[in-house]
Amino acid sequence: MNNKIYQLASIGVQQLIPYKAGKAIEELERELGLTKIIKLASNENPLGPGKKAITAIQQALSGLALYPDGSGYSLKQALAQKYNLDIEQITLGNGSNELLELVARAFLTPEFEVVFSQHAFAVYPIVTQAVGAKAVVVPALNYGHDLDAMLNAVTDKTRIVFIANPNNPTGTLLAQESVERFIAALPGTCICVLDEAYFEFVSSVEFIDSIDWLKRFPNLLITRTFSKAYGLAGLRVGYGLSSPEMSDILNRVRQPFNNNTLALVAAEAALSDEEHLKETVRINISGMLQLTEGFKELNLTWIPSAGNFVLVDIKQSGQALYEALLRKGVIVRPVGNYELPQHLRISIGTEAENKIFLQALAETLNNV
Ligand SMILES: *Cc1c(COP(=O)(O)O)cnc(C)c1O
Repeated sequence: MNNKIYQLASIGVQQLIPYKAGKAIEELERELGLTKIIKLASNENPLGPGKKAITAIQQALSGLALYPDGSGYSLKQALAQKYNLDIEQITLGNGSNELLELVARAFLTPEFEVVFSQHAFAVYPIVTQAVGAKAVVVPALNYGHDLDAMLNAVTDKTRIVFIANPNNPTGTLLAQESVERFIAALPGTCICVLDEAYFEFVSSVEFIDSIDWLKRFPNLLITRTFSKAYGLAGLRVGYGLSSPEMSDILNRVRQPFNNNTLALVAAEAALSDEEHLKETVRINISGMLQLTEGFKELNLTWIPSAGNFVLVDIKQSGQALYEALLRKGVIVRPVGNYELPQHLRISIGTEAENKIFLQALAETLNNV
């Protein structure tokens, strides 16, 4: 290894610990020679993409010699209509992950601080570190964000606060009233990134749509995605909703063709596929019940989740149980990197997948 090259990288990048993705099915096939593998590790939609998205992709295939529409006009138009916003308030990203990166690149330098919660999404420390800014991690409260403590951590050096609601990996949900109060209390020099990757799964009727706040808070960026509820994780489409000024800034630093043609048409079609979204939410609710009933039978506790995944407390090494489950062809997510070494995160699957997982869990739990 040539260590001199490492020393040439920026300080932030030298110290960066890259994101660890959920294990791919193909990878486990290669490693263990298993064939029947299920993956409940990355909060993907177990139903796959909807029919409308697939049809749109098929129809767009013959156009692939041409560059995509770099402005993403048609998709942005559809989003603007759906959310009753101006098209200038929408920024498209290569997954909402790219929005997190764009906001860090556009607003942070090493003199600034970034506030986020313990157990919050792993990408926040990465985008912060990559630009050499300082991460201020606020201890969690009951596994979720402690908004009062986070507000206390904000100083005149704080340029970005990240909030995930619901949070991944814990699934905890903040009341919208408290989020609104939090944003209102932030200094105007601090940007609030409200990461709503699991927004579509929130079933609480009291959940106010945060989009209403955009009129009042020019420093608010809401991020959402087609990767989770819409079943298009493989295509990489997410979007930011904000003031037109914030969107203008983010668009300055993104690459010109960050969303490919198939992603653009599929996302637009998916947006109109209410049937598929409804069915997705429906099987998520029943699957969550199936898993938590199963946990109860195994005398395990879990953290109530508003997302399409659940953190179960397995009272032993999560890594060891994860590996034992792998040998049975079941991929889940260990969360030791989130300071949760005795939990596993399980994405809700189909009824059949959930059943296979629970069976494997029962077999491995006391035999690791
Ligand atoms: C999955 C996830 C994202 C990013 O997903 P993309 O595929 O990049 O859109 C963002 N935030 C949270 C909390 C997530 O769990």
